[in-house]
Amino acid sequence: MKRPILYHPDARLKKTCAPVVDITDSIRQLTNDMLETMYAAPGVGLAAPQIGVLSRLIVMDCKKNEVTEAKPFVMLNPEVTASSDQTNIYEEGCLSIPEHFAEVTRPKEVEVSWLDINGDFQKQGFDGLTATCVQHEIDHLNGKLFIDYIGVIKRQVITRKMQKFKRDLVRKKDVI
Ligand code: ZN
Repeated sequence: MKRPILYHPDARLKKTCAPVVDITDSIRQLTNDMLETMYAAPGVGLAAPQIGVLSRLIVMDCKKNEVTEAKPFVMLNPEVTASSDQTNIYEEGCLSIPEHFAEVTRPKEVEVSWLDINGDFQKQGFDGLTATCVQHEIDHLNGKLFIDYIGVIKRQVITRKMQKFKRDLVRKKDVI
């Protein structure tokens, strides 16, 4: 089931999320819902707080396009365990801040550990866009958004525009 995505500014996007302690049916359902929501958006990553669930859970798939098959990562309690000194700059966006983009500098390579949906420990290195994506999603679990990396003025401009966007959404719903 597709779930509604929360838009910035929202207090739930600023919270530190709690670790997943047990892989229950509801966690499995939640990850399926997150994948469906991410692919439908469409987006390359989604963190649980973006659908209002304050658990340390992310999904991502930076490779999918018209020709390649979906090959998603589902990560429970993901953690960056090492990062390169060398950095990369990507223009980032976020499903919670639609139509706004900004260049963010992050480590070029990271090593991440997590539990998969079967509860098995995984550890893998990521590079390029996938490295940026996994860092962006893990940030969500710590209440951090990509706009927290940019200058205060630009951040305020985006936040004001998002406040207006949300007001307009509410108005549209009233009309319908
Ligand atoms: Zn995001």
